[in-house]
Amino acid sequence: MTTDIHAILKKYWGYDKFRPLQEDLIRSALAGNDTLGLMPTGGGKSIVFQVAGLAIGGLTLVISPLVSLMKDQVDNLKHHNIKAVYFHSGMTLPEQRIAWEKLVFNRAQFLYIAPERLASKRFIEELKELKPSFIVVDEAHCISQWGYDFRPSFLNIKSLRKLFPSVTVMALTATATPEVAEDIRRQLDFRRGNNTFQMSFVRNNISYLVRKPEVKIAEISRILERTVGCSIIYVRNRKRTMEIADYLNSIGINATYYHAGLSFEVKEERQNAWREDKIRVMVATNAFGMGIDKPDVRLVIHHDMPPSLEEYYQEAGRAGRDGQISYAVLLYNKSDKGVLRRRLTLEFPDRKIISKVYERVCIFLNLAVGEGYDRLYEFDIDLFLRTFAMQSDQVLAALAILGKAGYMEYLDERENSARVMIRTTREELYNQLGQSHNGERLLVCILRLYPGLFTDYVFINEKRIARELDMDIEEVYQTLLELARLKIISYVPRRRSPYIYMPTAREEARYLQIGKTIYEDQIKRRELRIESMIDYADNDGNCRVERMLKYFGEPKSSACGSCDICRSERESRNKKISDAELYKRLMTLLTSHPHGVRYERVEETFGADKDRVLTMVRHLCSEKLIYAEGPLLFLKR
Ligand code: ADP
Ligand code: MG
Repeated sequence: MTTDIHAILKKYWGYDKFRPLQEDLIRSALAGNDTLGLMPTGGGKSIVFQVAGLAIGGLTLVISPLVSLMKDQVDNLKHHNIKAVYFHSGMTLPEQRIAWEKLVFNRAQFLYIAPERLASKRFIEELKELKPSFIVVDEAHCISQWGYDFRPSFLNIKSLRKLFPSVTVMALTATATPEVAEDIRRQLDFRRGNNTFQMSFVRNNISYLVRKPEVKIAEISRILERTVGCSIIYVRNRKRTMEIADYLNSIGINATYYHAGLSFEVKEERQNAWREDKIRVMVATNAFGMGIDKPDVRLVIHHDMPPSLEEYYQEAGRAGRDGQISYAVLLYNKSDKGVLRRRLTLEFPDRKIISKVYERVCIFLNLAVGEGYDRLYEFDIDLFLRTFAMQSDQVLAALAILGKAGYMEYLDERENSARVMIRTTREELYNQLGQSHNGERLLVCILRLYPGLFTDYVFINEKRIARELDMDIEEVYQTLLELARLKIISYVPRRRSPYIYMPTAREEARYLQIGKTIYEDQIKRRELRIESMIDYADNDGNCRVERMLKYFGEPKSSACGSCDICRSERESRNKKISDAELYKRLMTLLTSHPHGVRYERVEETFGADKDRVLTMVRHLCSEKLIYAEGPLLFLKR
């Protein structure tokens, strides 16, 4: 076992030191303690469990909720020469075979899975053979029914404790109220001697402001005109992202928009333009931001309130990762409360509607009762909606609940880029090349653009290939199909449609169990979270940061000094002091600084009411009680 964790950090990542808390967490796990780490987004949670896993040695099993997160991390580990593999339900059989080979023969160091895997008996058998030596639960708030992102399949993780009783567990999350932290420890059966480390959620460089404008868009343009630097505007409605971006462009503010309904290429293009500062303002739904760590975002404006303070903190926290002064502004008016509460009723349609959706999807997919277990089906949701004349919001809401209940899961188009692997050896490839002219050009091109094609499926971008080869997309597509027919490559075309995954076989709709824990209890908890958000916005007596930290279970002794409440309090305090008080304070300040005080400092000390300070200073100078020399003020002796 290598325990020089600094050497590991240096060797694989090239970093010289750990960030706050990273080392404590790693050492706790190395000492065999079940460990919970609460660190804000960007705090560096991945390195914590990755270094710990490497130090413990053997295979680390990482459970993570999102395929896209797993993919990023696995790519990242590979990039640092660490062997990592992931499984997800969208993989083809050959892909799964390759992954297993890597695990077993190549002794991969990290295995990432979605928690649904744990429901598969076969997988559990295989896992017993693999004998993980460390178990990690990333995004662990998903295990808690109190969390804003509860996933019932996370509850499967508990079974691992019985299977591997001596293996240490580490759980990590960015947002955890005290209830959620407690729930995580309980649901994961944390043993005695367990440790919890909480990094402060204080972000001193962010000023949190709430504005209550008559017209939100006017306030947005006003703020953008008075500030500089990269900005994000969060809106909870796809169409409005476009409207706001158009408006901003029309008044000369460089902006674009982003939401989950755009094509993969468009999203990528816009994200890159924004990241490279070619575009200043990104107007987006909450689909934007996960995995984006641009350090110099100066301003995050929320046009609409998110449904919880956890989400607000997370999204606002995308500002100022570089530690420079930044702003998080929430625009709020009285009708926003009602909007949030109404949305909640939309998200929990009647149970009858949920079973209707279940039944209709099964019919649409041609699934008989008893069929479908652990299968993935392409699902043309637009056609579905048209066929049954149903509303998309309602269907998506019902599907979300069916997902939590473990009946059917709707996978949108997240994982939709095409994949290619070369099926022949390098030598054979050159013999086969003569068969197709376009094929030859295309192969040469992808070999140059994408390394690793001989050993694994690699994501390709058909548009980029088309550009490189000066072909059109359709031609690239046809050529790839041709190469696949010639058995030179395996090709998984880009998915155009979302999927339905069936964790269990089709049931008769009348036997569906939509339990209290995923229906009534969730509604109640969602209500509480909405209230916390409203409370944050409505409150005009307490420091915003104090409010927020209290909600996250972190005591904080002093007000932040930079939120709108602290600002206005300071202003009113300064306005209120009398001339006599001002005189007394000024004289005290100068008495205690016999070597003089800079004028700006005096102004700062007395705050907003600069004119009054200046008048007072002038008056005292003419009375010869004090005098100025250069930028300094002195008490007359
Ligand atoms: P989280 O999961 O907590 O949101 P990540 O694990 O994605 O955060 O880390 C955020 C960024 O911080 C990554 O780019 C990572 O490489 C970087 N990072 C983490 N630890 C360190 C460190 N000790 N020194 C320098 N950079 C680090
Ligand atoms: Mg993370």
